[in-house]
Amino acid sequence: MRLILLGPPGAGKGTQAAKIVEKYAIPHISTGDIFRTNISQGTELGKQAQGYMDKGLLVPDELTCGLVADRLSQEDCKVGFMLDGFPRNLFQAISLDEILKDTDTKLTKVVNIEVDKELLVARAVGRRICKSCGATFHVEFNPPKEDGVCDVCHGELYQRADDNEETVSKRIQVYLDETKPLVDYYSKQGIVASINGDQQIDKVFKDIELSLGSEK
Ligand code: ADP
Ligand code: ADP
Ligand code: ZN
Repeated sequence: MRLILLGPPGAGKGTQAAKIVEKYAIPHISTGDIFRTNISQGTELGKQAQGYMDKGLLVPDELTCGLVADRLSQEDCKVGFMLDGFPRNLFQAISLDEILKDTDTKLTKVVNIEVDKELLVARAVGRRICKSCGATFHVEFNPPKEDGVCDVCHGELYQRADDNEETVSKRIQVYLDETKPLVDYYSKQGIVASINGDQQIDKVFKDIELSLGSEK
């Protein structure tokens, strides 16, 4: 199973990705998570990425495509993968096509999570993430049992630096300009499953499972 998750910031990609990789036993590759790990470890890549992320802009393709190519060449991706947050523009999509061609593989599906723009800011601004295990919560829509504490591992919850109203609005605009055209790009290949993301988390997941059917 080789999947891409498309959708604007706050659509629920990370939340659904966690469920998908558990069910289908494939690695979860989130370019945003990779950049954030690099930032917290103070690496050169992290230093270069941070300014773009703080402004809600895309990190340049030269920094992004190579790291995805490396990640996909690792052994655990032989069984498939779940790409979350990549590709984000046409250049990245073409770069992914080349990686797939080199390995003589094809995408299974592009899961496109649709949520109205009006909901996205509230979703992203209320997002809280576990420092220890990465589990995602929402202060209102998916609250942890205890304020600020992860249900899964009791780790501390934090708010991403870019989850403020101004940066989120910018990221939504960047999505509309640069990423949304990929829905058309992959529709032409007949592999897009569009999912209504404005439903309960478990119902969204059911719809994704249905759209994947018996795909391997
Ligand atoms: P993305 O990875 O697309 O940016 P996330 O999965 O991190 O989105 O979800 C954004 C926020 O919205 C999180 O706080 C998450 O808990 C919440 N969320 C995710 N899916 C739903 C849903 N179906 N209904 C309500 N809130 C949701
Ligand atoms: P969200 O789904 O909420 O937008 P992500 O974690 O996917 O959040 O991305 C956070 C930020 O990381 C983006 O705003 C961008 O700066 C950077 N980023 C993540 N993935 C990519 C990518 N494929 N290309 C360029 N920048 C990226
Ligand atoms: Zn946790």
